[in-house]
Amino acid sequence: MRIALYLLGHLWALPHTLFGLLLLATVYRGKVTRWSWGGIEVRLDSNRDLIPKGMENGLFETAAQTHGVLIFYVALSKRLRRHERRHVLQCIILGGVLYPAAYGLLYVVGLCQGKSALEAYKAIWFEKNARAAE
Ligand SMILES: [Zn+2]
Repeated sequence: MRIALYLLGHLWALPHTLFGLLLLATVYRGKVTRWSWGGIEVRLDSNRDLIPKGMENGLFETAAQTHGVLIFYVALSKRLRRHERRHVLQCIILGGVLYPAAYGLLYVVGLCQGKSALEAYKAIWFEKNARAAE
């Protein structure tokens, strides 16, 4: 029963996972290092591509990024794995269309409230929820 739910969740998350596969095929250089129902981990050579435009000032540092069930990382600690797996779970629950749309909308709302890019990112409910899972 549990495997059937995970399978359905991974199918539900597929649109966002396909976006991650597109990144892997075009921008990211990495290889799959671990697969589980909690996410497929892909180790990248560099975190250069993980930092969003406008956040290259050193204030925003990331070692991982999740798209659908794909977790892209450079260095994955247990704490960061729990954080990224929470994002996988969020996507499995909300789906590969609604989850990224809601995530992006919450980010834009933060920007419209006058927050900096970093503040808007940290204020996204999904990020707060993932930090709580660390
Ligand atoms: Zn996060």
